[in-house]
Amino acid sequence: MASPPWPDSPAFPRASPSGLEVDVAILGAGIHGAALARELSLRGVACALVDRGSVGGGTSQWSSQLLHGGIRYLLTGDIRPMREGLAERATWMRIAPLRCRWEAFWMPHRSWMEGLAHRLGIGLYDGWGRDRPAWPGALRLGAVPEQVFQSDPRARSGPFRGATAYADLLTWDRALTRDLAASSRAAILEGQEPEAWEEAAGKLRAVRLRDASDGSPRRLEARKWVCALGPWTDAALGRWFGDEAKRLRLSAGIHLWFDPLPGCERPWTLRRPGGRVLFVVPRDGLLQVGTTEREVAEGWVPIVEEEREELLAALEEGMPAVPWRRLPVRAEELGVRPLVRGTGGTAHLSREAVLERHPRFENLHLVLGGKLTSARLLMDHLATTLTGQACPASRTEPLRLWDGQASTGG
Ligand SMILES: Cc1cc2nc3c(=O)[nH]c(=O)nc-3n(C[C@H](O)[C@H](O)[C@H](O)COP(=O)(O)OP(=O)(O)OC[C@H]3O[C@@H](n4cnc5c(N)ncnc54)[C@H](O)[C@@H]3O)c2cc1C
Repeated sequence: MASPPWPDSPAFPRASPSGLEVDVAILGAGIHGAALARELSLRGVACALVDRGSVGGGTSQWSSQLLHGGIRYLLTGDIRPMREGLAERATWMRIAPLRCRWEAFWMPHRSWMEGLAHRLGIGLYDGWGRDRPAWPGALRLGAVPEQVFQSDPRARSGPFRGATAYADLLTWDRALTRDLAASSRAAILEGQEPEAWEEAAGKLRAVRLRDASDGSPRRLEARKWVCALGPWTDAALGRWFGDEAKRLRLSAGIHLWFDPLPGCERPWTLRRPGGRVLFVVPRDGLLQVGTTEREVAEGWVPIVEEEREELLAALEEGMPAVPWRRLPVRAEELGVRPLVRGTGGTAHLSREAVLERHPRFENLHLVLGGKLTSARLLMDHLATTLTGQACPASRTEPLRLWDGQASTGG
């Protein structure tokens, strides 16, 4: 099946100089590319942020929109990434308070024993994640009072006896990505397709870009290069350099957005078989439900009926009093997770990112895998490696809002 067209070309005009020279060129303007542009700018390094589509127009607009420690890691025992994520939540809240909102997520239990296990696990999670700047005092954590639980329509006639509430952070993924880009001084080049490369002495030197809107060419030269192409990494490296390595496995996940349900105040996290979770999150005037896992071969794939069916069946099993199939679905979306290659099902593959130097070009770095939550930290690390300069301000410098930004032609 043919891939759908690249989405949403940028709406605003771009200056179009035919050449641009920077210290670091970043290919891919998702959360990783945008975070790296900010890190390099904080260190005073000239950079360009290039995307075939637009800033935040790839996977970074189809996530579950959580900045989280990953409650499911309690089951898999991945404590280090969990604690890292918990600490990063606090950093995001400090630097991007307008794009973050604390929530008390309810994790329902089916039995007294399961409730006890949840309380212990969640006690650890919230204890390790107790740095919660601007926590709203009205949100209650720990055991949800029985009356309060029973008044939620999702609890009626279902298999759950009660719930325990834990803290996590909601975000707006695309807006956050764009704010990161706006907080950089990078030349932002949207709608630019890399076409032909110049190399010299084992290094990449320049690329010819083609503007998707008017076909005009532009030469971009850089001393160092970073590919942060999300799920399109393997395909692009294959096309550009004949690189046949398969570094990623791709996993599609869908969300359905229903009309709001009266009485559903707090998000729910339901444990599912295989260490997976189902989120049911009231936000932005709708009810967001997700997500699934299906291994796919490309970064753009359509939703298949079995994915919708899987979500609806899980919702009906856990919350049978809600007429899920009769509720209008206002939107549905699919994102493709780039996961670092490994064996077994994609649900068990790590969400951690790996930084790799390309084996053929010593000045080309690859960002593989990862998640929104850890993107700032990882790009802080990469920028320090690229420049030899650490930058503590990365954890405190507030983001500028993208609103009103125009992309620059360099
Ligand atoms: C369903 C789902 C739920 C998720 N939920 C969460 C969550 O709740 N919390 C969390 O922390 N993480 C979550 N993630 C993970 C997170 O969304 C991704 O890890 C992250 O967005 C990846 O960002 P990226 O910058 O690596 O890739 P992308 O955002 O995909 O950016 C890559 C960019 O490269 C561009 N590009 C591609 N090919 C080319 C080319 N040839 N030339 C130029 N540019 C190109 C694309 O247009 C795109 O903008 C979720 C992911 C999915 C799919």
